[in-house]
Amino acid sequence: MTTRQHQSRRWIDRLRTAAEKLRRPVAFMEVCGTHTVSAFRCGLHSMLPKNVRLISGPGCPVCVTAQGDIDQMIALAQQTDVSLCTYGDMLRVTGSDRQSLEAARSAGADVRIIYSATDTVRIASENPRRQVVFAAVGFETTTPATAVAVLEAEKRGLGNFFVYTSHKQVIPAMRALLDGGDVGIDGFLCPGHVSVIIGSDAYRQIVADYRLPCVVVGFEDVQIAEGIVALIELSAVGIAELVNLYPQAVNHSGNSRAIQLMDQVFEASDENWRGLSRLPASGRRLRAEYARFDARARFNLPVVDVPDPPGCRCGDVITGRCEPGACRLFRVACTPVHPIGPCMVSSEGTCQAHFKYGGNRLAAEVIA
Ligand code: SF4
Repeated sequence: MTTRQHQSRRWIDRLRTAAEKLRRPVAFMEVCGTHTVSAFRCGLHSMLPKNVRLISGPGCPVCVTAQGDIDQMIALAQQTDVSLCTYGDMLRVTGSDRQSLEAARSAGADVRIIYSATDTVRIASENPRRQVVFAAVGFETTTPATAVAVLEAEKRGLGNFFVYTSHKQVIPAMRALLDGGDVGIDGFLCPGHVSVIIGSDAYRQIVADYRLPCVVVGFEDVQIAEGIVALIELSAVGIAELVNLYPQAVNHSGNSRAIQLMDQVFEASDENWRGLSRLPASGRRLRAEYARFDARARFNLPVVDVPDPPGCRCGDVITGRCEPGACRLFRVACTPVHPIGPCMVSSEGTCQAHFKYGGNRLAAEVIA
């Protein structure tokens, strides 16, 4: 056996020993796209005892972005005087008419991939005749950077910089899933990157209100497995507790500077989510002081409700209601080369992870 296989064997034994103490089947949800991919890549699902399931939640920033927002971003990009800037994963997400930012760019639209939010400010400075719109998606991990970009645009007095904000807050989504009651969740693996910003204490109220264990973990396969063992052990004895297994990066109160920047520039707003509809106070809109940077106001864009692409079950996949295999388009019409929904487009998407790593070999080898 290789060292890797020894490690896997050890974790399988630990998971099985812990699971023997359970008196009922349990399902834990990871709310982080990076956790989703790490778990699939190492074959964690196939290592899990039969009475333990790991389900994917709304943790992929691209996947949770509502179809109506995707449509608005594509429509903005198609305006002749607009340069639309966004993160790379957004490029291939299809709108309701099967268009995408990538297709719009091929047809001549000025769509730019950025690696940092402040790149958008530089682009606006260098192109004073263009209306530069930053299509800003993501959770608390990316929101502080958008806030910095807005403050920088204000400092430079830019009149051609705008943000189409579709930022999300993770806690309201977790609550909505639990309040919905149609997905059985016995505990959460809390997102590592988001927790660095908001701190582990942010989950305390969920633990208290729903009597569920929450465990904050890092991204290595071993860290995720350790988190599942902790969730199993807490569930076995019926203890709802918050455990931080990622103290090297996550403290209890989060990153105070990042939180201050978010609160300075944004306020809570109702937000449309794929799979979760419109959730109160689950997003962030620019405060009145920064409203002149709001792309929705500048381009007169209403909030629109648009259904997912026909047949696509991304909304169910990212809320744990079904696995990708339950979508009749999975592997047939929808593949990473020809994706239909965002869960197949995004490198953090559950459908792409199932497509690439489903039935992982390493764990199967070790179990055999
Ligand atoms: Fe959507 Fe494709 Fe996933 Fe089906 S397989 S849910 S169409 S992304």
